[in-house]
Amino acid sequence: MTPIVLPTAPAAPLVDPFGRAISYLRVSVTDRCDFRCVYCMAEDMTFLPKRDLLTLEELDRLCSVFVGRGVRKLRITGGEPLVRRDIMSLFRSLSRHLGSGALDELTVTTNGSQLAKHAADLAACGVRRINVSLDTLDPDKFRRITRWGDLAQVVKGIDAAQAAGLRVKINAVALKGVNEDEIDDLLVWAHGRGMDLTLIEVMPLGEIQTHRADQFLPLSAVRARLSERYTLDELDQRTGGPARYVRVAETGGTLGFITPLTHNFCESCNRVRVTCTGKLYMCLGQEDAADLRAPLRASEGNERLEQAIEEAIARKPKGHDFVIDRRRQRPAVGRHMSVTGG
Ligand code: SAM
Repeated sequence: MTPIVLPTAPAAPLVDPFGRAISYLRVSVTDRCDFRCVYCMAEDMTFLPKRDLLTLEELDRLCSVFVGRGVRKLRITGGEPLVRRDIMSLFRSLSRHLGSGALDELTVTTNGSQLAKHAADLAACGVRRINVSLDTLDPDKFRRITRWGDLAQVVKGIDAAQAAGLRVKINAVALKGVNEDEIDDLLVWAHGRGMDLTLIEVMPLGEIQTHRADQFLPLSAVRARLSERYTLDELDQRTGGPARYVRVAETGGTLGFITPLTHNFCESCNRVRVTCTGKLYMCLGQEDAADLRAPLRASEGNERLEQAIEEAIARKPKGHDFVIDRRRQRPAVGRHMSVTGG
């Protein structure tokens, strides 16, 4: 890879019409995944032809332009990011922005299946914290939820990540009638291993084979149940995203709640998402997107690309309007989570 060298003085930061500065970019590096989680994908997904994907060099260039315009945190996601061939070369290349101080954090969201192989390399690239998605500790249930996943392999990956010195946060989607009786066990397990736990409400993204209303478990109910047994002390910790955090007095660990359906979190939104084909989504819950691949490929210079980014940020919406409604048979947003990443 021939890396772009960033100018020493940062160019004008990206600020949307509501005064929100864009400091966080999530990049989906592939739409493919080695799992087929029931709430995320249909079993027979059709994936993008490889030629439509941005190359790793193009992804590096795109990320670097955002970093040059004030993005301080980069999250690599997917699909499953660690199944993309040679993905570590992207991490290695992006890590130069950590070295230069232009970037505060380079991180990844993964299902953990390939972590045993990559954990040490991620740590060597300056990754300090990672999110691992895990919804159950029961191997059979894990197989049913992920359709194809192997719990033991994921736990091995988490072991490797911790051994490499990475801080691990577990993300679990709360699923009605599936893992709602296991939230306690997940909490005790995660906190017992020194990992934070964040619970996520199912979001209506993409057609799957089940109705969302059958999966949806409001976290307000989970929290009420947990607070009968645990002391949950509100934390001030804010990430500009939908998560709210509490400290669990009995375990000493942090518990997060991501509640896009029961809370509005848009006023502090600091993030945008790029797909593996170079589509920029200004909001996870809206369809509007800007194509960055054409301006990226149009010339070697970045002027057109920066202009396309600026125009897109100028139409970042104030917020989303997710609804899960039994009467409405279509998802709020047509694309799956695997397109834009978590
Ligand atoms: N493969 C990686 C992983 O498993 O973390 C990254 C991509 S995955 C799409 C990111 C996160 O989105 C995972 O935690 C997954 O559980 C969550 N997710 C997928 N579909 C979702 C949905 N419809 N509602 C809420 N969370 C969802």
